[in-house]
Amino acid sequence: MITVIGSINMDLVVDTTIFPKQGETVLGNRFETVPGGKGANQAVAAARLGGEIHMVGAVGQDGFGEELTANLSTEGIHTRFVATAQETATGIANILLYENDNRIIVVPGANGLVTEAEIDEARELIERSELVIMQLEIPQETVDYALRVCKEAGIPVLLNPAPAKNFKEEWMNNIAYLTPNETECEEIFHSEIEEALEKYPNRLIVTLGAAGARYYNGKEHVFIEGFKTKVVDTTGAGDTFNGALAYAITSGQPLKEAVRFANIAASLSVEKFGAQGGMPTLQMVEARLK
Ligand code: ADP
Repeated sequence: MITVIGSINMDLVVDTTIFPKQGETVLGNRFETVPGGKGANQAVAAARLGGEIHMVGAVGQDGFGEELTANLSTEGIHTRFVATAQETATGIANILLYENDNRIIVVPGANGLVTEAEIDEARELIERSELVIMQLEIPQETVDYALRVCKEAGIPVLLNPAPAKNFKEEWMNNIAYLTPNETECEEIFHSEIEEALEKYPNRLIVTLGAAGARYYNGKEHVFIEGFKTKVVDTTGAGDTFNGALAYAITSGQPLKEAVRFANIAASLSVEKFGAQGGMPTLQMVEARLK
């Protein structure tokens, strides 16, 4: 059983060919609301693969909050510890897709209210988890506190350090697996990737986009090559990687197999639109692993 402690957002996606100048109004092409937030995305990725997943987080008392909680339930995720914050709105990400690029504004809202008290409420659940997954879209003090709770209870934590600016290197003592992408890795360790990897053998797994992922096993650097595929939308690739890695580790796969599994799962996710849209089932991953 895996517990995910993290963010739940509604992504408000606007597709436009014209970007407005200050004070200007333009007409966009398409608008969609899509469930997102790194916490929720990683929970969905692990649940699609068949994991028993519990979510700890918060939404606001509004339509998006209801919709997002219902979405998690539909994916088979337990939502008893998804709190409804009275005083603020559900978190949103305002995503402007513009000329094959994007501009994103995140308003954390209720995600900023995931507090130590909520961790305490979910403590019994956290303490019987095989693994806890976290990211950094909830308050830093809450991550700090949850890491201590897990350490005391001997529960391994997989931490996906995004956004990287919220990471503290002292946390490495309480983290079983850290999964930055290359940019995040450099931002966190202020060194060459090789050097960082050698400092944390079998614990630091760096994702390399289309090139795959790598880690250091104590003797040598291990590269897991990316699966070449036709990309539709890479949003959520990292989230799929993390959810799948957690699922594979708790299924007893050795690290190398687990990273291979996560890599294949993530390659499937980029073939469809939306963060959660392309997250694969176990059968889909197994078919591609053969
Ligand atoms: P993030 O999405 O967090 O920035 P990456 O870009 O490193 O992280 O992607 C995470 C994982 O998703 C990679 O390790 C890889 O397995 C997979 N992936 C990302 N982009 C592609 C791609 N173009 N083709 C195949 N797999 C991809």
